[in-house]
Amino acid sequence: MWNSEWEYRNQEYLKERYEEKMSGKRPYHPVRKIICKGCGREFYTNIETKKYCLYGLCGNRGYQKELSQKRLEARQDRVCKVCGKVFTPKRSDGIYCSNACRQKAYRQGVTDS
Ligand SMILES: [Zn+2]
Ligand SMILES: [Zn+2]
Repeated sequence: MWNSEWEYRNQEYLKERYEEKMSGKRPYHPVRKIICKGCGREFYTNIETKKYCLYGLCGNRGYQKELSQKRLEARQDRVCKVCGKVFTPKRSDGIYCSNACRQKAYRQGVTDS
């Protein structure tokens, strides 16, 4: 697993890998060039989900925390519309406990909305 701190300290190295990739020497190297969403500068990374040069520096921690909190709340237990069983939805918009219930609901003409 690539480490953000390591990447931050080794930009020169990653830039070289990126240039090699672009010139076709290492076409399968995972390195990418991103523009940091926090400070707007170029950053080289191997991490697929990366958006900031260094998260602790540019990521808005409060916002991210709020987001994951919301996701958590959205996934709290629900009661299945079809069989009445309490379940934890796999998706935040899931309203049926299982595929069987979903199919049953569709057959009965109950929609997700
Ligand atoms: Zn930044
Ligand atoms: Zn059910």
